[in-house]
Amino acid sequence: MCDSEGRKCRAPPWEIVKASCMALFILSVAVALVFHELGHVMAAVLLGVRVKRIGINWKGAYIVRDRGTDGQCFAIALAGPSMNIVLALLWHGTGMAQTEWVFGLVNLLPIAGSDGDRVLRLVTGKVKQRQT
Ligand SMILES: [Zn+2]
Repeated sequence: MCDSEGRKCRAPPWEIVKASCMALFILSVAVALVFHELGHVMAAVLLGVRVKRIGINWKGAYIVRDRGTDGQCFAIALAGPSMNIVLALLWHGTGMAQTEWVFGLVNLLPIAGSDGDRVLRLVTGKVKQRQT
């Protein structure tokens, strides 16, 4: 950054704060995303459901796995948001905890394609999914 006479000067503290906040926000979302999917994968593996692929697309991260029973699907769908909520409790009082809360709770809402939607469909008997 330069001043009006073209001399180099230091970035104002506000710019540094904004950049740091943005970097921390992106880091916390990435951490929440990774742990969320890790929760799904760990549940699938523990329940004996084969995970075929883990990927990321414009909607976020996903796993492709064998179908499993309704009970297995229910547990696997809840495992991702549960992981976020457990981390939110463990990291209580930090910015990371807030991101984990938001990530976990938003994923439990019955929005099409969300974990909450999958759980709702399993509970109501309207199962049609391949990804978590
Ligand atoms: Zn999920």
